[in-house]
Amino acid sequence: MSHTPPATPDTSLCARCHQAGGGCCRADSEGVEYMFGLTRGEIEIMAQASGLDPSQFVVADQASPRFLAFLESLHPLFLQTMPRGRRLRLRLSRGDCCFLGEQGCRLPVEARPLYCRMYPLFVNPHGRLMVLVSQACLAQQGARSWREVMRGLGQDEATLRGLFGRLQELAARHEVAPALKLALRPPEG
Ligand code: SF4
Ligand code: SF4
Repeated sequence: MSHTPPATPDTSLCARCHQAGGGCCRADSEGVEYMFGLTRGEIEIMAQASGLDPSQFVVADQASPRFLAFLESLHPLFLQTMPRGRRLRLRLSRGDCCFLGEQGCRLPVEARPLYCRMYPLFVNPHGRLMVLVSQACLAQQGARSWREVMRGLGQDEATLRGLFGRLQELAARHEVAPALKLALRPPEG
């Protein structure tokens, strides 16, 4: 980064999750298929906060039909973030998101992708909050409901619904490059 923002530690639960080598900011070769797409609005905010050119933290690729079918079952808005399956996703460095540091995400909270700020909670097409079930998520271990997961992460329902509403707005007007004028580089090796 040309200027590194101050480290913004995640909640202690997420910090422990990262320190244990897990967490939702990493993806192995299979997990890359299931990475969510970024909207143009989110990329612009991330570029401003980090001082980086989008080409340094975004990869453009094609989402698999399997992942697109999964997203459609989750909520149709996610397909709007990947028109014709064209996905703009976070760049990885040896399996870690390029923004992941020792203290967690190096982006200020308000500049992080909206799905990062909501994960693992989402709003389903019926307007209900739900959890994306993951064995690797510490917040879900021992939790008996989405409310317990939410409380464990220090989240609240109004904030989550606000974030989801913002994601809906950005997804509705999302456009893939060239509108974004991304100087896209090849995916990671
Ligand atoms: S942007 Fe931050 S919160 Fe999102 S995956 Fe990367 S490191 Fe994690
Ligand atoms: S949201 Fe879950 S998977 Fe992500 S860092 Fe926190 S505890 Fe780990």
